[in-house]
Amino acid sequence: MPIDVFSIAKAYADVEFQSLPRSIDGFAVHRLHGKRSKIAINRDTSPARQRFTAAHELGHILIPWHSGMSVDTFDAALAGDEPFGADDEGEANRFAAELLLPASQVRTALRSSSMGKGILQMRKTAEVSLEVACLAAVAHSPETHLLVVVDGVSRIIAAYRSSASWISRPAIGSRMETPSTFFAPFQPEVQIARVSPYEDSRTLYAWTIDSDSLWKTAGRTGDWRSTLAEIIASLPNAEEKRGLRESFSGMAGSANNLVQRNSLSFKRRFELLLHRAISNATVARMASHEKFPTLLAQRARSLRPR
Ligand SMILES: [Zn+2]
Repeated sequence: MPIDVFSIAKAYADVEFQSLPRSIDGFAVHRLHGKRSKIAINRDTSPARQRFTAAHELGHILIPWHSGMSVDTFDAALAGDEPFGADDEGEANRFAAELLLPASQVRTALRSSSMGKGILQMRKTAEVSLEVACLAAVAHSPETHLLVVVDGVSRIIAAYRSSASWISRPAIGSRMETPSTFFAPFQPEVQIARVSPYEDSRTLYAWTIDSDSLWKTAGRTGDWRSTLAEIIASLPNAEEKRGLRESFSGMAGSANNLVQRNSLSFKRRFELLLHRAISNATVARMASHEKFPTLLAQRARSLRPR
C-alpha cells in the first residue's frame, strides 16, 4: 500500500488543490506563531506528481530552518540535475523521496529483481513518478548504474547515475540514436534491462556497469598506444577512425586530473576510465573490441597519482 501522503500533510498544514499555472507544481507558505501553514498543489498535474509535490512542500514546512514561501517547479530538477543538492530544494526533495519511498523499501525492491523491473515495480507500489523511482533507486543502490529515460522519438528526457560512480550523465535533450551505438557494445559484461514499451511511450534503459568482470578480462601489461592502434585498425569504416585517437586521448587526459587530485588505486583508475569511456559516444564505438578492457587497463596504469 502506498503511504497516504495527503493525510500526513494535512496533519501539519492546510492542503489545497488548486488550478495553478502549468509551470508551477505547488507552493508552501510557512506560518509562525501557532498559525497553520499552507500547502497548495497544482491539481492539473498527474496523481504521482501531486503526491511528490505534497511530500516536497511538507518538507519545506517541517524542516526547521526552511521559512517563508517556496514556489516549486520540478521538471528540470527531477530530470537528473543534482536533485539532492545541499540547498533547501535538495533537502525538500530528499525528504519527499524518503517519505514516499523509504530506503528499506527501495533496497528490498532492487534485491528481488533487476534494476529496470525494480524501478517499475516501485513506481507502481509507491504511486510515484518514474523520475522519483529512478532517483530513489540510484540513491540506494551500492552498484554502479546509469539510467536513461527517452521519449517516443529517442530524445533523452532524464538521466541518473548512482552517486558513488564516476560515470557522466548523457546530456538531457540529446538523442539516443540507437542504444547499441551508445552503451550496448559492453554486452554481455553489462547487464541491460530494457523496459519497453512504456504506456506513455517513454522507455527506461537501465545499465549496471559490472566493472569487476571487465577488470578480470583485462590484460595489464603492454603499451596502450599499440593496443589503441590495433583497435583503430580493426574498425571497418574510415569515418569511425577519424577523431577516435583524439577523443580517447582527451578523455584519458581529463581523467588524469581526477587521478592526481585523489590518488586513486590502479583498479579505481581503470573504473574511472571505463565510466568515462561509456559516456563518450565516440570512444564507446571501440567498446565491442575484445582488447578494449586491456586498453583501459594499460592506459589506467600510465595515469599515475602524483
Ligand atoms: Zn521546494
